[in-house]
Amino acid sequence: MSQTPAQAGPSGLASLACDRSEPMSGCGTWGPHPFMAGRDAIVRHTSLGESAITISKRDWLSSVSAGLGLTRLLESLIRRPCLVVFNYHRVTSPDSCPYDHAVIEATPEEFDDQLAFLKKRYNVIDLEEVQALAEKRSPLRHRHALVTLDDGYRDGYDVALPILKSRGIRATFFLTTGFIDTNKVPWWDQVAFVVRTTERRRLRLRYPRDVFLNLDELGADRTIQRLLKLYKHPETTNPGRFLAEVEEACNVPRPLEAPERLFLSWQEVEALALAGMAIGSHTHTHPVLAKLTAEEQQQECELSRDLLREKLSRPVEALAFPVGSRQSFSETTLQCVRTAGYRLAFSYYGGVNTRGMDPFNILRMSIDRMSVAQHRLRSAVAGTTAGRAW
Ligand SMILES: [Zn+2]
Repeated sequence: MSQTPAQAGPSGLASLACDRSEPMSGCGTWGPHPFMAGRDAIVRHTSLGESAITISKRDWLSSVSAGLGLTRLLESLIRRPCLVVFNYHRVTSPDSCPYDHAVIEATPEEFDDQLAFLKKRYNVIDLEEVQALAEKRSPLRHRHALVTLDDGYRDGYDVALPILKSRGIRATFFLTTGFIDTNKVPWWDQVAFVVRTTERRRLRLRYPRDVFLNLDELGADRTIQRLLKLYKHPETTNPGRFLAEVEEACNVPRPLEAPERLFLSWQEVEALALAGMAIGSHTHTHPVLAKLTAEEQQQECELSRDLLREKLSRPVEALAFPVGSRQSFSETTLQCVRTAGYRLAFSYYGGVNTRGMDPFNILRMSIDRMSVAQHRLRSAVAGTTAGRAW
């Protein structure tokens, strides 16, 4: 990815990234975390990486705090009025999932714990309130949080919705309209599937350049993330050709359709809206917009908007850029988004929004598979909560 700001994550035992330039998923990227803003505090966002190095919490904290001035940074960051937008893709168990595990940020239990934590630490608001803050119609005086879920996976309805409702949180779902009511398998899950299924241990790709990957050395998850990083790279100007290369290298046909529907049905989308969740666009086919022509980008923005508006009978004014890294959208993209009538656009390379936030680049980050215990430990070490949290 273009830049790799510091980021912290996850789960029970912290996992240190072996390669900090590695993106977190087909849909995501790296970014700074409000609880851990140290430049060297790099933690891999997925806790599921087979190649991840796990160390004890104490070791992890030692490595994080060593020489960083981290506590001071955190204090200033965390007490300032801000808007933190936490993004999820899937809430489910990764067990036996043949697709991309890096888009599974939480199990149902973890999601519930995380939402409880957010409710205690932040003023959790909805999209409408975020719009008022971003458009400066409402002053930013507190520490606000918004919960968003990208792509429109079916578990957003089956699993996340009941938990959101029980916690009284009105999240925003950014939907890729071309996936709705289909059994389609998105490109990142196709890549993950063929890598998990292949019997080949060494993969060779010739496009966009010569690449050798040793599955025995890297493990499946890391191999998948390397390939997805290449897919998203500006060098890969022909994503279809790249996917064909991966398919050939693995000698496994890409699953274009899943045996079961992975994404929401229109009925479920309507139910989300009825339950008070906001619905935004995540384009129609989930391309890396910056790789498309202006006309194609305009079409992506408008088609998804029209479909959602028609089905929901309400305006659709927010869009989340697919992938969301700095390289995934351009000035042309921003123009298209404005022309299509959107009033808010969300990126996904990390960061906290403060008073000068840009309505067309609202920063988001992954909360990932952090346990509540880890949040508490972090807060204590950072000395930022002074007994208020937990
Ligand atoms: Zn996405």
